Amino acid sequence: MSEVDFFQKNTSDYICPTYARYPLAVKKAKGCKLYDFEDREYLDLLAGISVCNLGHSHPEIVESIKQQAEKLIHVSNLFYQEEQIQLARKLTATFPDSKAFFCNSGAEANEGAIKLTRRYMQKIKNQTRFEIITLTGSFHGRTMATLTATGQDKIKDGFAPLLPGFKIIRFNDEQHLEQSITKDTAAIMIEVIQGEGGVKPVTKSFVAKISELCQKHDLLLIVDEIQTGIARTGRFWAHEHYQLKPDIITTAKALAGGLPMGAVLARNNVASAFGPGTHGTTFGGSPISCMAALKTLEIIERDNIISMAAQKGLMLQAELENVKKRHPEKIREIRGQGLMVGIELTFPGNKIWLALLEKGFVLNLTQDTVLRLLPPLIIEEDHLKSFAVALDQLLGSKELCEP
Ligand SMILES: *Cc1c(COP(=O)(O)O)cnc(C)c1O
Repeated sequence: MSEVDFFQKNTSDYICPTYARYPLAVKKAKGCKLYDFEDREYLDLLAGISVCNLGHSHPEIVESIKQQAEKLIHVSNLFYQEEQIQLARKLTATFPDSKAFFCNSGAEANEGAIKLTRRYMQKIKNQTRFEIITLTGSFHGRTMATLTATGQDKIKDGFAPLLPGFKIIRFNDEQHLEQSITKDTAAIMIEVIQGEGGVKPVTKSFVAKISELCQKHDLLLIVDEIQTGIARTGRFWAHEHYQLKPDIITTAKALAGGLPMGAVLARNNVASAFGPGTHGTTFGGSPISCMAALKTLEIIERDNIISMAAQKGLMLQAELENVKKRHPEKIREIRGQGLMVGIELTFPGNKIWLALLEKGFVLNLTQDTVLRLLPPLIIEEDHLKSFAVALDQLLGSKELCEP
């Protein structure tokens, strides 16, 4: 039995089949490299889906986790914890006049933002508004509320009845947005670059319309930065590329250097809707996740990770535009910002994706035709070039480019 067969069989025998897994079992990882059980090396262009933004097992993050494990792993939110205060101070400095609620995942952060929106309307504004508008193609998570908010039918299939209080409008459609606002509308929730949806940025004019309508109708703006945040796009938050003033930001994936952690950041007036006992989570803000996150934020600042991500992103996009010029009939569009990049093919990309994996390049295929790159932000330019060369070569194969 080959390694992969062994993993396939045991995974399907013992683990719920919720993932179509890649034919790769990862034994260990370091920096930008993954290693399988035959010690074959792969270039990681996915970073655990934008989680390991500083690369795998960054030595300083490992050290801070080790030290914190010796000191305090968990005590519960019934107690004051200095690790939470330190992280909340640092994180809210990126979003002034806000407070943090710590949790464990992206879906849980969005769930918190949804609950906070409802409670803010009911308890602070004394209003009956509750509806949250989201966009087609969006992805906000897998809990009942967040899958209801998600603008993709496949995520909802088989889970009816969904939650009331959500309306999905067409992505980048200003008119549809404007027409959809009613006396019940409480908030608009967006990703400024849809990740799962195929690396699709919102347009500047759509963003301008969102700002205008939020102001006019006194709506809350929730920006889901779970994938785009923490330096990924060449800014700390991706919404900084736009003129946008969110009331609530949700974050998770890369926040704690690979440990599970999410957070809701809410402007003070909105955050005040959460009182003692209104919301909570046992593991949220665990000292060990907080210390890993603090170290992550410290390294991002010290090592100029944000401007490096911007610079490498420009270089990568330029390389890929050259590949596109050589294969204009195979690549529809290169999209993205910083090191969040999508290559939309003109044909289903499964064969090319698998051929890239066999050549040692790990990336993701989303929406059937979009090769999605979310490499560690510490990746070297030569790595990115080697990927462009491999893609160029494979696009030359007629067989790999047929559906
Ligand atoms: C990954 C993701 C989520 C869900 O995060 P989980 O940690 O998987 O619950 C929500 N929104 C966006 C934009 C994401 O990329």
